[in-house]
Amino acid sequence: VINNGGGKISSLSAASHKVLNRRAIIDQKMLSALNHQSFKVVYQPQFDLASGEVTLYEALVRWEDEDLGTITPDELIPIAEENGLIHDIGAFVLEEAATLAARWNEQGRHVDISVNTSVREFSNAQMKNKVIDILNKTKCPPSCIQFEITEKFAFQAEEENSIVLQMKELQDAGVEFALDDFGTGYASFRYMQHLPITKVKIDKVFIDSLTTQPKTQKLVEGMIRFCKSMGLYIIAEGVETKEQYKLLEKMGADAVQGHYIGMPIPSNDIQFKDIK
Ligand code: C2E
Ligand code: CA
Ligand code: CA
Ligand code: CA
Repeated sequence: VINNGGGKISSLSAASHKVLNRRAIIDQKMLSALNHQSFKVVYQPQFDLASGEVTLYEALVRWEDEDLGTITPDELIPIAEENGLIHDIGAFVLEEAATLAARWNEQGRHVDISVNTSVREFSNAQMKNKVIDILNKTKCPPSCIQFEITEKFAFQAEEENSIVLQMKELQDAGVEFALDDFGTGYASFRYMQHLPITKVKIDKVFIDSLTTQPKTQKLVEGMIRFCKSMGLYIIAEGVETKEQYKLLEKMGADAVQGHYIGMPIPSNDIQFKDIK
């Protein structure tokens, strides 16, 4: 409760109280929800332009609660970062993803799965071992798994060596890394310079105004050219229209993802057929 002694509590609006309250409830319920299978993973396809096929699905976490409704990752991840449950959530999502990727691999399907993670998780010296344990347990080849790294939660300079080491060891095992939300953070170039990244995802904010703002178009053109010169595989996210799709194809993007290609869906609903 916020109370600075002088009856100031009333200065907080009713709306702010509601937000604080919801946040507190989410925080409080999270562990039990995780232990009682209220967390789910949905998968969104990524369409590779050269092959004309969906070559990857991105795992996205969901939490459905009777009282709170759907709690989105944007709401729950920052709280999980604070209460420490981010590690358990990360392990849950990876285990689900690896189980599915192992099944697909067994069936002879060449489709990878990517898992979102904050770069800070890799500062933990045990991260590599934890990932390898889950891949072994699920019999998932490391080459079927990818991590999408965000810079939302920046790391400290002294953590860098450990992060690079953990990532390189996983990369040697066959895991790939994509830099997520490219262009939105202040550290994109630093990450590109030091981390073993082979792919880049251009953030949705740039795709949103791609076909309406000439400036954005120039910016995305430049990003693609620059990333190509670095030898990176370029994915555009948040593609919602045919116009965006066509333009990105013309500009030389390697892959597209977004509602135009497919929504995030439960694994049981995934059907393997060509999109065009
Ligand atoms: P992101 O990695 O940039 O993922 C893309 C987000 O945009 C997803 O939202 C996706 O459902 C949504 N999206 C995809 N295509 C379109 C489109 O065409 N139009 C619109 N309007 N939206 C689209 P979501 O699932 O709510 O996830 C939000 C963010 O939360 C993700 O952003 C990611 O950074 C984070 N996140 C999701 N799952 C996890 C997870 O398991 N672990 C961690 N650490 N973060 C996660
Ligand atoms: Ca992502
Ligand atoms: Ca792979
Ligand atoms: Ca994004």
